[in-house]
Amino acid sequence: MRIVLLGPPGAGKGTQAVMLAEKEGFLHFSTGDILRENVKKDTQIGKKAKAFMEKGELVPDDIVIEMMLDTIKNAEPKKDFILDGFPRTVYQAKKLDSELDKLKLPVEIVIYFKTSTKIVISRLAGRRLCSKCGANYHIVNMPPKKQGLCNKCGSDLYQRKDDSEETINTRLEVYNSQTKELIDYYKAKGILKEVSGDLEAQKVYSRLSEILKTPAK
Ligand code: AMP
Repeated sequence: MRIVLLGPPGAGKGTQAVMLAEKEGFLHFSTGDILRENVKKDTQIGKKAKAFMEKGELVPDDIVIEMMLDTIKNAEPKKDFILDGFPRTVYQAKKLDSELDKLKLPVEIVIYFKTSTKIVISRLAGRRLCSKCGANYHIVNMPPKKQGLCNKCGSDLYQRKDDSEETINTRLEVYNSQTKELIDYYKAKGILKEVSGDLEAQKVYSRLSEILKTPAK
């Protein structure tokens, strides 16, 4: 099954994608993670993307589209996969559709994480990540056992630069002006399902599992 996770930053898309990958064996393609890896390694893509990411703006479509389509094709596209954070514009969605149609592997289901702004802001502002393995924490909702250290590998936790208050606001504006219209785009295709991103992670996962068990009409 090929799934797109759609919703504002902080809706829990990444958390659910990791759970689905661990429990159901989905390949997980996170645009944000792949871009951050490129920035870390200072690749050509990373050099181009860095300033946009730090400001909370979208990286230009052509860079992201080429990067994601290459990633999908170089993996095993016939396996079940989840796209987390891609597409984020209608232009990206159309390009994705036309490439996946050529491979006869169209997106089958789009999960929209409907999430209130208040929740999103508190999640992003409290989010901490492991500097080594990328595991996700929250200073209030999901604190590590030892303050500032990852439960899994013991490395230091850090706050993403773009999780600062000012950049969070920009990211939400960008979502509302450029990404939200994908809800209608996928609704028109009849493949959109909605979950509440306000719920805690286990409840969202149960709801997602139910949706994924229901055969597409
Ligand atoms: P995320 O980890 O999904 O919150 O993404 C972090 C940042 O990466 C975003 O604020 C954008 O700057 C960039 N980014 C991620 N996905 C995309 C995309 N599909 N199109 C353009 N920029 C993206």
